[in-house]
Amino acid sequence: MKAWEDGASPGITMDLLTPNLADITPEGLSLTGDVTGDEIGLTREDTILSGPLAVGLDLTKVENTVCLTGVVEGTAVRECVRCLKDFEEPVAFSLRVVFEPEPKAKPKAGPPAAKRVDARKKQPEPVEAEAEETADEIYHYQGDHLDLAPMLREQVILSAPMHPLCKDDCAGLCAHCGKDLNEGLCRCPVEPASNPFHVLRGLKTEPK
Ligand SMILES: [Zn+2]
Ligand SMILES: [Zn+2]
Repeated sequence: MKAWEDGASPGITMDLLTPNLADITPEGLSLTGDVTGDEIGLTREDTILSGPLAVGLDLTKVENTVCLTGVVEGTAVRECVRCLKDFEEPVAFSLRVVFEPEPKAKPKAGPPAAKRVDARKKQPEPVEAEAEETADEIYHYQGDHLDLAPMLREQVILSAPMHPLCKDDCAGLCAHCGKDLNEGLCRCPVEPASNPFHVLRGLKTEPK
């Protein structure tokens, strides 16, 4: 929790997050440095990082298209879905994305073309093809520099496990008393509902 607040000095990494297109020479541009969750716009709801992320990026440019590859490493604080305890987990993933210029806004003229599209001609969604290919993800930039923060934020979120577990065999919490079963068994009966004494007790305490 505390690690979230004490971010490294801002400013130093601004160049890392907003590289100028002009700096991407024919030999490419390599960027390395640390970025904090704050700097890439990560909120507590997204992912809690313990400390900054180490980022290493390689950019190459062909005409106006920038290919970016790199690695991101750090540590995240996650909540175990079984025992609800916070635990630290390494964050490590590689990046491969493409930046293209933001498409120019279409001039307002006539009714939207989409409305005139015949429904019968609708193409089926190319879901299968997309699953097969590992196509580079495409981001857009405006002006003379890239803004890497939103892309990095998104990639950090995507790298998070759907069901974080503090350990593969986490025993979780007892559904009845809430005890962390990793610390030992509780005294709850295995099948409380089938215990006749529980039923009797319930009847006795029932208000008249
Ligand atoms: Zn756990
Ligand atoms: Zn229990």
